[in-house]
Amino acid sequence: MDSTHNPRLRSFVPVAAESHFPIQNLPYGVFRRDDQEQPRVGVAIGDMILDLALLEARGFFPDAGWGEASVFRQPSLKRLMALGRPAWREARSIISRLLSAEEATLRDDQELRRSALVPMQAAELFLPAEIGDYTDFYSSREHATNVGTMFRGKDNALPPNYLWMPIGYHGRASSVVLSGTDLYRPCGQTKSDDAAAPVFGPSRMVDFELEMGFFVGPGNALGRPIPAAEAPEHIFGMVLVNDWSARDIQKWEYVPLGPFLAKNFGTSISPWVVTAEALEPFRCAGPAQDPPPLPYLRTTGDQAFDVHLEVGLQSAAMDRPHVICRSNFRYLYWSMCQQLAHHTATGCNVRPGDLMASGTISGPTPDSYGSLLELAWRGERPIQLGNGETRKFIADGDRVTMTGWCQGDGYRVGFGEVTGRILPALGG
Ligand code: MN
Repeated sequence: MDSTHNPRLRSFVPVAAESHFPIQNLPYGVFRRDDQEQPRVGVAIGDMILDLALLEARGFFPDAGWGEASVFRQPSLKRLMALGRPAWREARSIISRLLSAEEATLRDDQELRRSALVPMQAAELFLPAEIGDYTDFYSSREHATNVGTMFRGKDNALPPNYLWMPIGYHGRASSVVLSGTDLYRPCGQTKSDDAAAPVFGPSRMVDFELEMGFFVGPGNALGRPIPAAEAPEHIFGMVLVNDWSARDIQKWEYVPLGPFLAKNFGTSISPWVVTAEALEPFRCAGPAQDPPPLPYLRTTGDQAFDVHLEVGLQSAAMDRPHVICRSNFRYLYWSMCQQLAHHTATGCNVRPGDLMASGTISGPTPDSYGSLLELAWRGERPIQLGNGETRKFIADGDRVTMTGWCQGDGYRVGFGEVTGRILPALGG
């Protein structure tokens, strides 16, 4: 850790105590002021966005090691992601210094401040990267146990491979959408247990999955695995992920090849990418791994991060979300480094901007379960929304909002939120 992590560091930009974006965070996103402007890279600070494209054009990143081409005058973080850790550290150090209350360069230049600092409320945000490939893991032992118990019984809850490798599936990148995007209830084939044939129509079991995901930085060449010990050099930063799921479609389609249409109608992510650097002070121990992982999955030191997570559900009749789940990223059995080492063990190449999601993050207690499937236990225990309404699954017009943050001493390194509504099905 370095001076950018100092808990006493303050910015001249006002930052409320509960803000997710103090000077210790500095998450990257893509934004524009209005539709006349090209989307560009910025950093969130309090309620403002610092326009890095403008600062770069004015020569504030002289020796950051990325040569001629602009890194921040881009509609995506991909170029920044591809640069790797030394450049990420250098950029963070420059931005931290420019925003510091002790540094006059930006603080005392009224003209520069006016042009470089944009109110977040007035800006339009975009996906942080054009996502090439999206993979979804299944790394919460509690989630896998709960789902396995429901569908296979308590004695066969965990699949036999579960404690040996971070299992996952290749997802669909085209329908990864930015927070705030509403999604239509999907239609598909479903079949009830006592029916002779399936029917086609709107899913009646739409669910959310509380997840986090990491963006890949520099990739690997085809055929060259990323060893677990080198994985940190390839992990740029993290976002919140809502992996929307249609349980009834999933139940009928998933044998033998796994999730397909049940998962491809939309995956929502938060707009601000919290860098691996910013998360470093919140590193902590994950669950003990027994049996010990095979050598290619072995890591040393703490591999989890203490990120408090919440899910709120707001029906069309409610004026604010009701918190239905509190969980933590640290519960995950398999770490991001193990996921990346496993993903590439065959020689599969990953590329800058690829998104790797954790899988539903369920904790040990019923109020920490990361999906409605588990919270309402397959519909057997409908959850209360606090206004008399109950839910087994998502109803039309429901809004799901996820948030998460690391609590520091007097500050929060937060992820903002990922939110979205389910609209009535179009067809069916
Ligand atoms: Mn998932």
